Amino acid sequence: MKTFELHESGVRSYCRSFPVVFKQARGAELITRDGKTYIDFLAGAGTLNYGHNHPVLKQALLEYITHDGLTHGLDMYSEAKERFLETFDRLILKPRNMSYLMQFTGPTGTNAVEAALKLARKVTGRNNVISFTNGFHGCSIGALAATGNQHHRGAAGVPLTDVSRMPYANYFGDKVNTIAMMDKLLEDPSSGVDKPAAVIVEVVQGEGGLNAASAEWVRKLEKLCRKHDMLLIVDDIQAGCGRTGTFFSFEEMGIKPDMITLSKSLSGFGLPFAMVLLRKELDQWAPGEHNGTFRGNNHAFVTAAAALEHFWQDDSFAQSVRAKGKRIADGMHKIVRRYGPDSLFVKGRGMMIGISCPDGDVAAAICRHAFENGLVIETSGAHSEVVKCLCPLVISEEQIDKAMSILDKAFAAVMSSQTREQAG
Ligand SMILES: *Cc1c(COP(=O)(O)O)cnc(C)c1O
Repeated sequence: MKTFELHESGVRSYCRSFPVVFKQARGAELITRDGKTYIDFLAGAGTLNYGHNHPVLKQALLEYITHDGLTHGLDMYSEAKERFLETFDRLILKPRNMSYLMQFTGPTGTNAVEAALKLARKVTGRNNVISFTNGFHGCSIGALAATGNQHHRGAAGVPLTDVSRMPYANYFGDKVNTIAMMDKLLEDPSSGVDKPAAVIVEVVQGEGGLNAASAEWVRKLEKLCRKHDMLLIVDDIQAGCGRTGTFFSFEEMGIKPDMITLSKSLSGFGLPFAMVLLRKELDQWAPGEHNGTFRGNNHAFVTAAAALEHFWQDDSFAQSVRAKGKRIADGMHKIVRRYGPDSLFVKGRGMMIGISCPDGDVAAAICRHAFENGLVIETSGAHSEVVKCLCPLVISEEQIDKAMSILDKAFAAVMSSQTREQAG
C-alpha cells in the first residue's frame, strides 16, 4: 500500500474503503494479488454491467487489436464507429421507436453532460437549467453546477451558476407534489426563477441515494417541460444500459426525452466512452464547435457493439436482470425485517437497489464488515447512508446469495452493536 500513499494524490477515494491491491477481475469477482477473491457489488459504480472481462467482449477487442484496428482517430470515420452506430440504431433505438442522432463527446460521463447542457443553452439561447436535489451529473464545472453534493461542489473554486435547484420526486415526502411546485414557480414571472433552457434529471438517482422517481412523476415532468418550453435531458449514465431492467431507465414510462446522456456501462467493458443522444432538430452544432481529442474511442466502439449484439438481441437479458433484481430485493427485505424494520428500508429499482441505514456511520460500518468477509460494496446518499448494490448484471444467483449472506452477517453485527449502544 506504501507506493500509493507515497506517490498518489490524496484525492483518491474508493481505494481507501478497500485497501488491498487488485490484480485480476472476472465476471462479478475481483481478485487481489494475494489471491483473495471478492464479490464486486460496486462494479465501477455501474460501469461494469456486463461484468469484468466478459469473454465475448474481450475476444472482440483482442481480434480488433490483433488486426491493427484503429485505436485513436479523433472523430474520423472508422469501421468500428460505423458498426457501433449501425448496431445501436438497429438493436436499441429502432425497436424502441426512438429516433436520435448520436454525439460522441470526451469519454467520461461529465463530458456528455457538459455537451448536453451546452447544446440546450445554445439552442434555446437561455442560461438557466433546472436540476434536482441530490442529483449527480459529474465534477467538471458545468455538470458540477447541476450536481447537488456539497463535498463535490465545495471543491469547484469558482461560482457554480446558471442552475435552479428544484425538489426531486418525494423530496418532501409523498404528500407534496413537487411538479405542481415547479409549475407555480415557472408560471410566476416574479418567482425569481429565470426561464430555463432545460431540465436535467436522473430517473433513479445513483449517487444521490437510489431515489427512484415514479413513472407518474416522470411523465408529469415531461409535460411540465413541454408546457414551459424547456428541453428534457435524462442523465442515464448510471441508471441506463440495463441497470433498472430495461436498456433505458425510463423505457416503460413512455416519455420522449430531448436528449439522453450515456456513459459508464456503454462500452460494456469498462472502457471510457460517452455519448449524447439528441433529437435531430436540436443538432445545431457547427462542425467542431464542441471539440475533444478523445471523442469516441474505437476500442469502446468495438466492445460496445459486441455487448449490444450479445445481450440486446431480444428481451431475455433484460428479463434476467428483472429476476435478479427481485432476488436481491427479496434478500434485502429479509435483512430489513430481521435487523431494523423501523430503522432500515429498501430503496431503488431493478439492480440499482440498496438498504437505507439510520446514518452514514452505520452504513460505513456495514460496508467495512462486508469487505472483511469478501464483498466490495459502497454507500451513496446525502449522508452516505444507503448501502448500495450495483453488482454486475451478469452475476450468478449463487453469487447473489453469497453476497446477501455476507450482508446479512454485517447487518447482524452492526445493528446489534447499535442496539446495545442505545440501551447502554
Ligand atoms: C457517474 C455519473 C456521471 C459522471 O460520470 P463521470 O464519468 O464520472 O464523469 C454523471 N451522471 C451520472 C448520473 C453519473 O452516475
